[in-house]
Amino acid sequence: MVTISSQLPTAELQALDAAHHMHPFSTQEKLAARGARVITRGEGCWLTDSDGNRILDGMAGLWCMNIGYGRTEMADVAAKQMRELPYYNTFFMTTHVPAIALSAKLAEVAPGDLNHVFYAGSGSEANDTNIRMARVYWAQKGKPSKQIIISRKNAYHGSTIGGASLGGMTPMHEQGGLPIAGVHHIDQPNWWAEGGKMSPEEFGLERARQLEQAIHDLGEDNVAAFIAEPVQGAGGVIVPPETYWPEIQRICDKYEILLIADEVICGFGRTGNWFGSETVGWKPHIMTIAKGLTSGYQPMGASLVCDEVAAVIGACEFNHGYTYNAHPVAAAVALENIRILQDEKIVERVRNETAPYLKEKWEKMVEHPMVGEAKIVGMMGSLALTPHKESRAKFASEAGTVGYLCRERCFANSLVMRHVGDRMIISPPLVISKPEVDTLIERAWKSLDEGMAAAKKEGLWQAAS
Ligand SMILES: *Cc1c(COP(=O)(O)O)cnc(C)c1O
Repeated sequence: MVTISSQLPTAELQALDAAHHMHPFSTQEKLAARGARVITRGEGCWLTDSDGNRILDGMAGLWCMNIGYGRTEMADVAAKQMRELPYYNTFFMTTHVPAIALSAKLAEVAPGDLNHVFYAGSGSEANDTNIRMARVYWAQKGKPSKQIIISRKNAYHGSTIGGASLGGMTPMHEQGGLPIAGVHHIDQPNWWAEGGKMSPEEFGLERARQLEQAIHDLGEDNVAAFIAEPVQGAGGVIVPPETYWPEIQRICDKYEILLIADEVICGFGRTGNWFGSETVGWKPHIMTIAKGLTSGYQPMGASLVCDEVAAVIGACEFNHGYTYNAHPVAAAVALENIRILQDEKIVERVRNETAPYLKEKWEKMVEHPMVGEAKIVGMMGSLALTPHKESRAKFASEAGTVGYLCRERCFANSLVMRHVGDRMIISPPLVISKPEVDTLIERAWKSLDEGMAAAKKEGLWQAAS
């Protein structure tokens, strides 16, 4: 047996990693040449790497560490559940206490009549469930032609074949024969990049009305559902103009289609409410959850389903399921996560204290010479980088070149802040304190200064014509 301890020298760990571990969304060769950063510990909002550096995690892992790292209660609950019942399935007329308790709890915290839970191992799997559930729902109602799911370009709904098809990421569609049939994409409400000469308000309406146009073009009889993230996360934290969501809801009320809110990032407090749908005023029939459901302590996703859809699906045998549906350890950990969020009033603290504090500082970053737009909702924010603010110019270099330079400077300054193209994004743990917000802002500003200097030095300070 090979045992790898974090006491091995970093270079040895990196060499073994490069030799055997294939990384997601990475160019393996490039990563191997440089060596992956080895993360060894987490505490609150802070990571430690194998060289002993302490890094402020401005991304909450991958948008998921809502309660922060290092909560021993979570470990205790997992250990207790593993001793008692490490696994059982819920396929063959069986259930178990963690599944029962978590389902009841989710029905309590979810808005409206989203009272039913179909579990999955991840957000991607839950969205695969949603595709099938929406189509089976209409077939059961005698409308089998209602098959198409409308989604948005630059949306992220996961990386399985179904999830990536729902998503609107071109680089993903280019590999492996995606998207599957029956998915239609409309444009995203990204005013900064695509608004042209329209005001944000006009643009928000125009983009929302594309949904109505698509329903007309495809035929209402052929459309099963519309899926969207309340705030696009992986697409670059795209905050739509204020006119967008009310118009979407008006259109959704008018036509007979199901609404699926992908709350994998927005759920469990990220936007300052329990769910992003509450923040944007949207009433979905199905909600995708994952990430903050367990704060990343265990892999788990789920579809929250309204009374009516659950009743229709419940009248037939739904031929769908995963071995790890409602996994007892993950369910116990999710319950403990929700207990911590509730008992410590973490969502309220975000809404009333830390998010307003972060918002004030974050929006000031628009004064940085390279920042054209600074957007933030709750604990998810973005900065659009530009060589010319007035014209909202893109850089002449390939999208992401300057963003990458800035991200490299963040790395060097011990801050995790990601780039999506030439947008910088943050999504810190919800437990971040005001002094930690100050540190985040200081390091982000410094990294932008250095990134801008590097861009100038490399001749990249040029607007696209
Ligand atoms: C991360 C994410 C997913 C996919 O979840 P996985 O657990 O990675 O499969 C789906 N939708 C959104 C909005 C996400 O951010």
